[in-house]
Amino acid sequence: MKPGISTLYLKEDRMEEECGVFGGVMDDEENAARMACFALYALQHRGQESAGIAISSSDGISVTKGLGLVSEVFPDLSRIEGRPGKLVSGHVRYSYGPEGSRPENSQPLFLRYKHGEIAVSHNGNLTNNRELKNELEQQGSIFQTTTDSELLAHLVAREGSPNLIDSLKNVLPRLKGGFAYVILAPQMVIGIRDPLGIRPLSLGVINGENYLVASETCAFDTLGAEFVREVQPGEMIVITENNVSSYRFSDQGSALCVFEYIYFARPDSNLCGKNVHLVRKELGKALAKESPADADFVTGVPDSSISAATGFAEAADLPYEMGLVKNRYIGRTFIQPTAETRKLGVGLKLNPVTKIVNNKRVVIIDDSIVRGTTSLRLIKMLRSAGAREVHLRISSPPVISPCYYGINTPTSEELAACQSDAEKMRQYIGADSIGFLNVDNLTKTIGMKKEEMCLACFTGRYPC
Ligand code: SF4
Repeated sequence: MKPGISTLYLKEDRMEEECGVFGGVMDDEENAARMACFALYALQHRGQESAGIAISSSDGISVTKGLGLVSEVFPDLSRIEGRPGKLVSGHVRYSYGPEGSRPENSQPLFLRYKHGEIAVSHNGNLTNNRELKNELEQQGSIFQTTTDSELLAHLVAREGSPNLIDSLKNVLPRLKGGFAYVILAPQMVIGIRDPLGIRPLSLGVINGENYLVASETCAFDTLGAEFVREVQPGEMIVITENNVSSYRFSDQGSALCVFEYIYFARPDSNLCGKNVHLVRKELGKALAKESPADADFVTGVPDSSISAATGFAEAADLPYEMGLVKNRYIGRTFIQPTAETRKLGVGLKLNPVTKIVNNKRVVIIDDSIVRGTTSLRLIKMLRSAGAREVHLRISSPPVISPCYYGINTPTSEELAACQSDAEKMRQYIGADSIGFLNVDNLTKTIGMKKEEMCLACFTGRYPC
């Protein structure tokens, strides 16, 4: 194997989810913080830059947070034990750029205003945040962070009402974009989903009486909670002890982010009643039909592409092999998504299994191509491990437009598919062949109508 290309770094060339949110009422106040911590472990894939937990107790709301993985911020739970309180919320954050990794942007964000205390967590991005921030700054607001959580808190405080729900009812129709908020107040936890349901949020229940919200259903499984339903687009859920109520602040239809199925969500999560692993497997099958390849075996880029790769192998009647192994233990400091580390290409590490790959015709399945740099190195790596042919298949359409709803994507100029057609991409990447799933097959396979999903990064048509 040639030196320098024996490993592959992934993080710099992915669509990256921004955050995971969680909150609710726990059964046992002594164990509530621990349970929140477990929920954050389940959501860790949605953000590795910071983690935080807020607890509402008789002494008020306390927030513990910091930069790092959940296991680094809460290594032994000592930071959160001894704070009894049944109402909790939590957050894991992905961030990008120099601003993103600033400690003050960690969440939940605690704010004390005239009518009480709140801790706000969010996932996503307000497309009108500049406009709202300008307006608030002109009225004298001073911002300490660059988060949309602080923006919402300021809007609520400026309503001047002692009733938090009434304030939110007034404020929420002003927010545009893709977002899921969880707000912890002394007596309640509030879950909010954007008007089109671009970002996911689900409702669960523990022991049939205490309700929770989380970005993904895998958090409920971890806590032994049951899934109740998805929070509807434009819905605010208010959870108190033994009670849950719902308010709609918008009724515009839905446009769930299709990338949740393709890459972001954990395979054991369900979205709109569909298991993510099974959807990905079906996408792999559809890809095998749309873009077959003559090869000796199929392999997937771990972990997100393995489901699609197994589906491709099944439909193509080819063996699935573990052609690549991912090193799960690379330190967090090496994967921080700064411009500097991107340049260095540092991220999650992959190695080829040379004895499997050598002298074979390989179909490699990946979930997407963003800049194309990962694919290029991936193909080089497989060739240097002795692959005779490498056929790249992508279980989604070419990414041609950036995301404005909270997903870290490069500019159009940096997107490989924006600059070149499939053949030019193949030449740049160095594959023997390349194939994508088209938008029609993507939506048909998922089993949802195009109008029910956000497909903007594949079509350039933005739902809001
Ligand atoms: S533009 Fe793409 S990544 Fe962004 S919300 Fe829409 S489908 Fe998801």
